[in-house]
Amino acid sequence: MRDDDALDAAVPVVTSGAPTRHLCLGCRLIQAATGQCVQCGGTTIAPVELVRELLAYRDLSLAGERDLGMITALVAGSTFIFPILWPVAVASLGALVVRVPVRRWRDRDRLANPVAGIVVPPAHAPADAIIKRGTVRRFRGEVRASIWDGAPVLAEEIAIDAPEGGVLVRHALAAPFLFESDDRVPIVVRGPVRLAPVPAWTEGKRTIKPGDPLLAGLGLPADLRVRGIAHRTRLVEGMTVTIAVSRAGLGEEAIAEYASLRDGGVVRAYRGVRGEPVLLGAPSGAGSA
Ligand SMILES: [Zn+2]
Repeated sequence: MRDDDALDAAVPVVTSGAPTRHLCLGCRLIQAATGQCVQCGGTTIAPVELVRELLAYRDLSLAGERDLGMITALVAGSTFIFPILWPVAVASLGALVVRVPVRRWRDRDRLANPVAGIVVPPAHAPADAIIKRGTVRRFRGEVRASIWDGAPVLAEEIAIDAPEGGVLVRHALAAPFLFESDDRVPIVVRGPVRLAPVPAWTEGKRTIKPGDPLLAGLGLPADLRVRGIAHRTRLVEGMTVTIAVSRAGLGEEAIAEYASLRDGGVVRAYRGVRGEPVLLGAPSGAGSA
């Protein structure tokens, strides 16, 4: 068998029209295809189908150098820009084929529930962050449909926790919205946001079993056996929150409808950037960011 044949056998063929979802192994966020996680900035990220075996690791740093080589090769091998790494991926996949059954034999729990929970890195505002308290409003009526219940939301995060602790997978979405603090003119907030999941505004507790429609909504493969408890945190019109944005995310934007309030309608903008999302915390929560 040629190397190419082995690789073709290892790379899943996408047959549906749905876009491939990527999963960050550092924070377990499911997101659109990317090379860098929108929330934690990690680069250990790849299509869900490619990394599913790796979800059994609680902590990648414990996985050993050989496995990290394999992970890197898998991630690189999934990118057509780096065909030179394909032979490395093939060799590493060979090692995986040998090692995975051994692991399963050693750890039958893993076989019963192949996705292990991890500790998600907490959200930290950068040292130079601007921190304000204010109220959120819709911007030009924009909302997103919650994948939890279809309700209109400005932003939403869902995490599925493992029964024995840790987070299995996460989901986040956000529409552009307005933030009103003491100033007369609202601030436009765009890009990735992260909701500090303090209990004060985390609602819902739903038992998830394989086949739950929420898993399909997250874009997970139907045969990936995820069991756990799902929680959701959501941002809706009129909520009062604390916002933290890095200096890199500060900007301005010309908004026609504010032309009467400020010259040219130029208003301030807070933009979440890849790896440095705008952080939102409930003001009543302890240590909100
Ligand atoms: Zn991440």
